[in-house]
Amino acid sequence: MGNVSSLWIVPLMAVGLTQIAVIATSTYLHRLLAHRSLTVHPAADVVFRAILWLTTGQDRREWVAVHRKHHAFTDRDGDPHSPLLRGFWHVQFLNAIYYAREAKNPETIRRFAADIREDRLDRVVFSRGWAGVALGTALLCLILGLWPGLIVAAVHGVLYVLVVAPLINGLGHWRGAQTFSNTAYNSRALAWMTGGESLHNNHHAHPRSPRFSARRLEFDPSWVVIRALAAVRLVGITGTPIPRGSAAVTPLHG
Ligand SMILES: [Zn+2]
Ligand SMILES: [Zn+2]
Repeated sequence: MGNVSSLWIVPLMAVGLTQIAVIATSTYLHRLLAHRSLTVHPAADVVFRAILWLTTGQDRREWVAVHRKHHAFTDRDGDPHSPLLRGFWHVQFLNAIYYAREAKNPETIRRFAADIREDRLDRVVFSRGWAGVALGTALLCLILGLWPGLIVAAVHGVLYVLVVAPLINGLGHWRGAQTFSNTAYNSRALAWMTGGESLHNNHHAHPRSPRFSARRLEFDPSWVVIRALAAVRLVGITGTPIPRGSAAVTPLHG
């Protein structure tokens, strides 16, 4: 931290790490596991899980179950994190608590993630979320030094848990543009920092589409990563992408 150039490393690493975690969440947990719009090579499967373990500590069965429940009960009784039911600021600040509460409900896991089997890697390594986060933080400290490492880990944690995830779950069901008639909204600007997840109105209309953008000027960063991985056969694209410009069929609001 002695010179000016090293000061840039901290915010750059924090934002970069959050982007990696966000794109891994959107690609692997969301599009691949929860909606089955992609398939994955076994090697890439382990890499995705390792990245998510080190950067978020999330359990894949829990994530998938909570998310599928959100689709099953969108904005009505049973939705784990609806701003229409709980209030916008509640979801913005307490999203992690709503998530954790639902994730610890064994009935939710049984009903919504029965197809995701716990394998040996889950049992031995990836189910220990806090160990992943601790190891990830230790690696950062090793690379950057103690304090820069701790600061990067903390800023990344705040960005992922208190900024990006609530922007998707809260704002994505509160305000924005609508192409399709459902209770979710699109934000073209936010989609750049949420791995395309803020094209949330498109996603609720076409949940099995592996691409979240549907119209001109909508950009889905995860789709760029998915196409690159598909080009080298690390992922396969199985869901049908939303037809581009398919928008005109439903009236626009917002
Ligand atoms: Zn939603
Ligand atoms: Zn979804």
